[in-house]
Amino acid sequence: MAAAREAQAEWAERTPVERGNVVRAIAELLRERREVASELVSEETGKPLALALGETDAAVEMGFFVAGEGRRSYGRTTTASMPHRTVLTLRRPVGVAALLISFNTPLPNVAWKAFPSIFCGNGSVLKPSEHAPASAWWLGRLCLEAGLPPGVLNVLQGLGPEAGMPLVDDPLVDLVSFTGSATTGRVIAEAAGRRLAKTVLELGGKNALVVCDDADLDRAVEWVLAAAFSNAGQRCAAASRIVVMDAVYDDFRGRLAHATGALGDVGPVISEAAMDRILAAIEAARAGGATVLAGGTRVGDRGWYVAPTLVEGVAPDAPLSCDELFGPVAALYRVTGLDDAVAVVNDSPYGLTAAIHTASIHRAMRFAECVAAGVVVVNAGTHGSEPHMGFGGVKQSGTGWKEAGLESLDVYSETQYVNLVVDPALA
Ligand code: NAD
Repeated sequence: MAAAREAQAEWAERTPVERGNVVRAIAELLRERREVASELVSEETGKPLALALGETDAAVEMGFFVAGEGRRSYGRTTTASMPHRTVLTLRRPVGVAALLISFNTPLPNVAWKAFPSIFCGNGSVLKPSEHAPASAWWLGRLCLEAGLPPGVLNVLQGLGPEAGMPLVDDPLVDLVSFTGSATTGRVIAEAAGRRLAKTVLELGGKNALVVCDDADLDRAVEWVLAAAFSNAGQRCAAASRIVVMDAVYDDFRGRLAHATGALGDVGPVISEAAMDRILAAIEAARAGGATVLAGGTRVGDRGWYVAPTLVEGVAPDAPLSCDELFGPVAALYRVTGLDDAVAVVNDSPYGLTAAIHTASIHRAMRFAECVAAGVVVVNAGTHGSEPHMGFGGVKQSGTGWKEAGLESLDVYSETQYVNLVVDPALA
């Protein structure tokens, strides 16, 4: 933290163009070494190399998007009621930022926070997940090689309570930017709130995907498979609640159950504890009367693999309907029509993303108007946001800030209003 504070002052004196150029150099070097980076991610998380390569490319794109802000970071000018006064905005760094992240997509998680934080002129201390320490360390070294001055980005390893909490508690830290579970987010918000630090929380989801009676069912099945099971369901934007209209429910259930059973390897979950927790949740749902239509078991006895799992008959207030499992598990819900579907979608403590499959623009827009979600998708998955799109949720999915997109600049900088009196003699 002291290193970040010391380096920050000089770093903030560089022009935004220069800082953007350094972010671009980091992104270019990462692109050049995408195989090495992705192999490391695959090794530390167990995810397939192809998936890790896609994530590395997304991190690179985030770098390029942020770098472009060096020559595009527009502010505002506005009016004043007093004569001869011009008002304009400047973006100022926040200071020292603590960046605490999840394991699920290690390099994008670093990129989404570190690149805008660096660009905005902050000093940063990054605390990666204890489950994915290697790629963050490697990327920290890469930043130095690409020309980032020492101290501007520091990588600190360790468990949450012992390595993360001291950052949250320390008065040297001006901004706490956290991505992880709502449970941890609550602990962090309390600690950071005690000293009124700027606090940005990007938390979990229990995202719903609605299939209407006019949807293309084959495409909807494909999107559910991708949204619910890719990365073994370890996405904040994963679709875990599949809400289907009565008229097509039986048909859709048959197709989806068959496709889920045929899906094969979706990669392991992150740890034995995660696997045990997910399997226990499935068992509890079964004991509560739910039917497992596909999966529901561990796969093999090496590594932490859970079969893609589809269940139905879960009560709306059962834990499997309310709690984020962060694993390859989705539940089906039968609804009568759009109003009923919206009610089910909104019956959740979370509000990150939501999707609807329909041929009707009216239904799609009405859905967007009515659902409590930070991101709405029509005729695709619940995931898939890109670097230029602000991402963040409502309710217990976050604190209202968005990361990525231009909105990320609001997280990592402060807007200062400057009042200029043109000529004091005239004022
Ligand atoms: P987690 O909350 O267990 O851990 C996240 C980070 O917080 C880790 O670095 C961990 O070491 C640290 N941590 C844990 N306890 C801490 C404490 N007491 N004090 C300080 N730091 C602490 O979450 P996870 O299991 O790594 O990630 C899964 C969660 O992340 C899911 O809920 C998922 O939805 C969420 N997530 C959200 C987004 C988003 O953009 N909204 C993106 C990815 C993941």
